[in-house]
Amino acid sequence: MNIPQSSFPRIVIIGGGFGGISLAKKLSQKEYQIVLLDKHNYHTFQPLLYQVSTGGLEPDSIAYPIRKVLQGYTNTYFRLAKVQKIDTEKNIVETNIGELKFDYLVVATGSTTNYFGNQTIAKNSMSMKSIPQSLNLRSLILENFEQALLTDDLHEREALMNFVIVGGGPTGVELAGALAEIKKGILPKDYPDLDTRRAQINLVQGSNRILPAMSEIASKKAEQFLEGLGVNVWKDLRVTDYDGKIATTNNDTVFETATLVWAAGVQAVNIKGLDAKDYLCPGNRLRVNEYNQIDGFEHIFAIGDVAQMESEQYPHGHPMMAQPALQQGDKLGENLIRLSEKKPMLPFKYHDKGSMATVGRNKAVADLPKFKSQGVFAWFIWMFVHLYFLIGFRNRVVVFINWVYNYIKFDREARLIIRPFKKEFRLNSEN
Ligand SMILES: Cc1cc2nc3c(=O)[nH]c(=O)nc-3n(C[C@H](O)[C@H](O)[C@H](O)COP(=O)(O)OP(=O)(O)OC[C@H]3O[C@@H](n4cnc5c(N)ncnc54)[C@H](O)[C@@H]3O)c2cc1C
Repeated sequence: MNIPQSSFPRIVIIGGGFGGISLAKKLSQKEYQIVLLDKHNYHTFQPLLYQVSTGGLEPDSIAYPIRKVLQGYTNTYFRLAKVQKIDTEKNIVETNIGELKFDYLVVATGSTTNYFGNQTIAKNSMSMKSIPQSLNLRSLILENFEQALLTDDLHEREALMNFVIVGGGPTGVELAGALAEIKKGILPKDYPDLDTRRAQINLVQGSNRILPAMSEIASKKAEQFLEGLGVNVWKDLRVTDYDGKIATTNNDTVFETATLVWAAGVQAVNIKGLDAKDYLCPGNRLRVNEYNQIDGFEHIFAIGDVAQMESEQYPHGHPMMAQPALQQGDKLGENLIRLSEKKPMLPFKYHDKGSMATVGRNKAVADLPKFKSQGVFAWFIWMFVHLYFLIGFRNRVVVFINWVYNYIKFDREARLIIRPFKKEFRLNSEN
């Protein structure tokens, strides 16, 4: 990998997401050599992926070059590499571009879609965990309408305009809201010769309320907002299979649809070599102690979505959200600096800053530590928080201008089929 030898211990960080970047920033200019590895050369701001899928934002505005984040950091190296295996005996990471020895290793590989073993759903549904996947979804949505114009078969036309989103968490709710706004504000103008009123947006949730991780009032309001936008909210309903045309459920409900978005499950991205039973938790997360050390290792850590730090308050680990990843990256950085100064490490304590979801124009729900809000005020908080956490001044400006433009013009101009989506790419579209 051509990383120079150094007198400082080498910390290898796998993953330039929220956790990995926050750690690399904390360790800049310290007495370590840092090597950050990521399979992409950019950081993805995942909370806004649904806006890329629905043409509200260009992909470039939610991605940021990792090399630019690290510019000016001494002793810090980035390599575009996919890590394939970790040898915990020899302290080596094996990647597609070669091997690298480490003194300390930090796994910050995030999470991916969990299909709970259903290969048919995995093969035929769409996912939205990365920018390429969001672009695929954007293309498919637009291609469906182009195709709906061409067919005389009413059945086929309805299936092309029938969208099923499985999973009523923030991702499903936000995507459903954005699709409903497209149906209302854009489709009638773009496709005047198609009866777009027949387009259906279905949000399917397995439990008895959407946004189950938020307060009851947030769930109730979000549901009202969605229904006001014309979304069909299905509760206590589970999609059991989808062959690319028909989605079956745990009761008699069946959806004929060309587009099923699977937002119903996540699992950690684990890497071969770190799969011993004693620290591997359900959902592939790696059990860590309060210093983020993986059980049984002093020099191998995990942070963010991939880490399961169990406590009385969080018996199944912290929520798989940006804040735990950012805070763990920062704390681990502090602890590694303390180690280099021969001081004891300090335990991680999570500061819950709340959660929120937007449902569409002027509508969001926010559960914050000191108050809860639903409606326009929550929507402003949502926008401010997302702009604040976006990496890069340019991205903030571009996103802000896009939002103002979309708001004033009731528009989403990035509805472009740049890279047509082919069904056979689905299984390989993860990366
Ligand atoms: C659609 C969507 C919406 C979301 N909305 C919100 C929200 O509103 N609020 C919120 O708090 N959270 C939200 N989240 C969750 C949040 O994005 C994650 O919790 C957060 O990104 C976790 O940070 P991380 O550092 O653990 O992993 P990530 O940010 O996912 O970063 C992992 C990195 O590891 C890299 N990587 C993975 N495997 C390898 C490998 N083998 N080799 C090299 N590199 C590898 C990846 O390329 C990636 O850059 C959302 C997630 C999604 C998908």
